[in-house]
Formats: sequence, structure tokens, C-alpha cells
Amino acid sequence: MKNCLFCRIVAKEIPSKLIYEDDHSLAFEDIHPQAPVHLLLIPKKHIETLLEIQAEDLPLLMHLMELVAKLAREHGLAKSGFRTVINTRSHGGQTVYHLHLHLIGGRQMTWPPG
Ligand code: AMP
Ligand code: ZN
Repeated sequence: MKNCLFCRIVAKEIPSKLIYEDDHSLAFEDIHPQAPVHLLLIPKKHIETLLEIQAEDLPLLMHLMELVAKLAREHGLAKSGFRTVINTRSHGGQTVYHLHLHLIGGRQMTWPPG
């Protein structure tokens, strides 16, 4: 996807603070961190939102969930806990239309979300 910001990060056309990469996924630091740890985990495949997930994508989603746990542990968040967020479309607050999961931690979160 030519005009997709995160596809361009996958293609290394735009620099990012890369934390993890494999054949199917990428994790990098959010450019506007909302907490001491704020990572974005994305599939390399361009999927616009959760609404576009297909049955064939389920292994990919499982893979991202495993990656959440791995990166949370590596960033010292396993004991204190953390928050994972997927924003979807306008009311969800989605600004980049390439599926991504926020991994946020290192401070106390509040509920309900804003
Ligand atoms: P969302 O609002 O859920 O779509 O999240 C998009 C996130 O991408 C926001 O938290 C932004 O701060 C972050 N973001 C935007 N541009 C970049 C970039 N070039 N590198 C890293 N994170 C970015
Ligand atoms: Zn994309």
C-alpha cells in the first residue's frame, strides 16, 4: 500500500525505532508515547482495521498476541501489567488505517478510557 504510513515503515521508507521484526510482523516505538513503554505491533500485511480480518489471518493474530507477551516480559511489564489497545475507525480513535496493537505500560492506567 503506497500511501500507508505503516506499510512505508515496513518497507523501511520511513525510519522507526524498531524493537522486533520477523517475516510477518514488526514492533516499533510509538512516536508520541503515552507511557514509559508504548510500542506498536503490526502485521506486515496491510489490513486496514479489525473489521477486515479474514479467517486466514487468524494465525497472524495469534502470532501478534504471542508477541505482546514476549515484548511485555522483555520490557519488564509482566508483573506490573500493561494495556493492549486496538483502536477501530473514527469513534475508536484510529488515525492510521493499518491494523496495529498498542502495548502500553510502565504507569498506572485508568478506566474508563477517554
Ligand atoms: P491509532 O490512533 O490507534 O491509529 O494509533 C496510531 C499511532 O501511531 C499513534 O499513537 C501515533 O502516535 C503513532 N504514529 C504515527 N506516526 C508514527 C511514526 N512515524 N512512527 C511511530 N509511530 C507513529
Ligand atoms: Zn499498510
